[in-house]
Amino acid sequence: MARFIFITGGVVSSLGKGLASAALGALLQARGFTVRLRKLDPYLNVDPGTMSPYEHGEVFVTDDGAETDLDLGHYERFTGVAARATDSISSGRVYSNVLEKERRGDYLGKTIQVIPHVTDEIKDFIRIGEDEVDFMLCEIGGTVGDIEGLPFFEAIRQFSQEKPRGQCIFMHLTLLPYIKASGELKTKPTQHSVKELRSIGLAPDILVCRSEGPIPGKEREKLALFCNVRPEAVVAAQDLKSIYEAPLAYHREGLDQAVLDAFGINPAPRPNLARWEDVVDRIHNTDGEVRVAIVGKYTQLEDAYKSIAEALTHGGMANRVKVRVDWVDAEIFDREDAAPHLERFNAILVPGGFGERGTEGKIKAAQFAREKGIPYLGICLGMQMAVIEATRNMTDLPTARSEEFAGDIDPREFTPVVYHLKEWIKGNAKVTRRKEDDKGGTMRLGAYDAVLKEQSRVAEVYGTTVIEERHRHRYEVDIRFREQLEEKGLLFSGMSPDGRLPEIVEVRDHPWFIGVQFHPELKSKPFAPHPLFRDFVRAAKEQSRLV
Ligand code: GLN
Repeated sequence: MARFIFITGGVVSSLGKGLASAALGALLQARGFTVRLRKLDPYLNVDPGTMSPYEHGEVFVTDDGAETDLDLGHYERFTGVAARATDSISSGRVYSNVLEKERRGDYLGKTIQVIPHVTDEIKDFIRIGEDEVDFMLCEIGGTVGDIEGLPFFEAIRQFSQEKPRGQCIFMHLTLLPYIKASGELKTKPTQHSVKELRSIGLAPDILVCRSEGPIPGKEREKLALFCNVRPEAVVAAQDLKSIYEAPLAYHREGLDQAVLDAFGINPAPRPNLARWEDVVDRIHNTDGEVRVAIVGKYTQLEDAYKSIAEALTHGGMANRVKVRVDWVDAEIFDREDAAPHLERFNAILVPGGFGERGTEGKIKAAQFAREKGIPYLGICLGMQMAVIEATRNMTDLPTARSEEFAGDIDPREFTPVVYHLKEWIKGNAKVTRRKEDDKGGTMRLGAYDAVLKEQSRVAEVYGTTVIEERHRHRYEVDIRFREQLEEKGLLFSGMSPDGRLPEIVEVRDHPWFIGVQFHPELKSKPFAPHPLFRDFVRAAKEQSRLV
């Protein structure tokens, strides 16, 4: 049965709790243990699927089709363990389950209360799959003291009481602010945060303290004394140049040892950190730089394209180049010519997106890349825009557009090259969708197979002709235009197994131009860069040597 590590945060948010959890998962793996990571989010949305990227950063999609928190992306990138729908839960989901049961009469007329009904629901969730791994790491979103978080804190308190002694530990992440004027690291906010935790019955076993510099012995002892942890269990988390240094940095600071000590696992298996040493070596020992433009909508907010930025970094690591990403607002091209904005880049990426804003700009970016021979990767909406561009300009059908952006346009006035799909096959079953289901969780979501054409560029890049990738979209490229487009040089090189849905397109006579209907970025890892990102960056590197 799994041992449980509950990770909470205090003082302020954005301290890198997700990263600390992911790095700890990687370190436990390095010692030969199996792990699963989980996120418990106090917000009231049922899932992040309908939240704006401004609110919550990117939506991370799992193989089994759940729209989850971007922290699950960190977990996967660090551990390689594919996240599942059951690894992400919010207060909204918990309450909606409880209310559903109440309406069904499952509670047999009882009064429904936060304790025990809501906390029971949370505990049931934490238990899912507990027999499958050695360690289950559960991160609680938000910071201690948040009103919404209380049922989760109470649930993990109960949970640890119900388990045999020594099976659950608590790790608390806080901030040690540095006061420049006096040259001191302050421990008081951490003391208060731990006091807050203890007032709700939780005593941390390990303190992970974010600080700008190392924690001097005096402060470490003070923290240990006032927060009731062992001095070795006060772990420093200093700022790092790259997030991928986190496993080695936490190992040097003794995090994994402190965790094994807290569980009384003695002797601790020795870690094999070769994977992370190689990753760090690839980040720091690079030969040159490539510049990639991401032409999108949420360009002020890097978290909106988190996995893409990471996958590009992985592609850079595979090619030993630094990838410098510039975010270009697609709307600029509504007014201005694309060339002066895009000329200096070695590659262009148009990411996924929803809504019409910026789409004509993305089409111009695709056209620029196609005509100028600049490597182009179009992801989801980025593929749809590339197909519209090609239909308009290669096959001379200027009215080509997506049904998503047709608005009130008379259907006779435009050609829907990308249309709203209402019915498709998943495994052996048919999935149907109605107009009124439109918002939230009603898309083609999760893992689907694609079959690649022999001898296409993508088959070469993947090194196989059957792939499985994650999807999140409502609209599909229409195969009615396939023949005309292929004749002009836009090949449909990847299709759904039934041959109905285009999954990949590529431009024949071009250094590197690929559009994919799925999200390859979600499966890329630093120690196993996704083949498309690996080869895209290779093409960018080649392009950079030409100029
Ligand atoms: N808006 C498009 C669709 O729903 C693309 C979605 C995406 O890029 N993830 O099909």
